[in-house]
Amino acid sequence: MKIQLQGFVLWSIGLSLFFACNAQEQSTDYNTNSPNSQVDSSAPPIPVVTIPIGLQKLIAAYPQQHFKANATCLIWSDGDTMVYQDSINNIDKTFQMLLNQPDLEDQLSMPYPKGLDYPIPSRNNDPGRIRVEAFFLKMYGQNKEAVRKNLVEIDFLGSKLLVTKINSIDKKLAQIAKELSEYPELKKYLENVGGSFNWRKIAGTDRLSTHSFGMTIDINVKYSNYWRWAVEDKMEDGKRAITYKNKIPLKIVQIFEQNGFIWGGKWYHYDTMHFEYRPELLIEL
Ligand SMILES: [Zn+2]
Repeated sequence: MKIQLQGFVLWSIGLSLFFACNAQEQSTDYNTNSPNSQVDSSAPPIPVVTIPIGLQKLIAAYPQQHFKANATCLIWSDGDTMVYQDSINNIDKTFQMLLNQPDLEDQLSMPYPKGLDYPIPSRNNDPGRIRVEAFFLKMYGQNKEAVRKNLVEIDFLGSKLLVTKINSIDKKLAQIAKELSEYPELKKYLENVGGSFNWRKIAGTDRLSTHSFGMTIDINVKYSNYWRWAVEDKMEDGKRAITYKNKIPLKIVQIFEQNGFIWGGKWYHYDTMHFEYRPELLIEL
């Protein structure tokens, strides 16, 4: 009985989210309410829909996706919808829940510190590591073969890389390479690129790495730091106390950020070779 009841509750929540999306979609759309001076007082009031700031950021950050939104959902160009906020607020989710069961609101919930001046990340402050896998699968391809269809080879400062052409990421990486080539002192960090497209899970997890989507590159491993490699870090209360490390010059970070890529060097679980296309975390409205 208890199991049946739980099933019913989950079914009800799912159903209500489905209706929440579709009911709003019929009545309103993004930017559709214009002031009307000839107001008919007998007519029902036009609902004012507030698009959550996170959805506004997704729309502005991915213009090639032609996203729309209403108060509760992201609407894809083919009409598919994704709920912005599930039944649990991001502040009520544990860090593992944020990583494993995020919604789009959670994906945008940790502010990414853009620019040269950034704080040493506090515990579990990983802006960009919270990702709705379904969002990236829908954007870049539902499986390895589907992603592959959108890959092209580019020359990145002498390394041949397979990257996606979705969101013009191939062109953006070519532009990054052009800008970086003007700084010969940075060359050693950028040769022997550690990786681009690679359909795989993140080490130690059941989640897909963003390398699976062809929108992420790792620069030279030789000058990189990754929290899992720092076995010398001390244990505190049964957990490893991660001590921040970085050898990557911030000029490289700045050029990637200016072209829509975030850097794994700004995470508590740092990964300083890692750059991933996440313009929604960099855009300012
Ligand atoms: Zn990486």
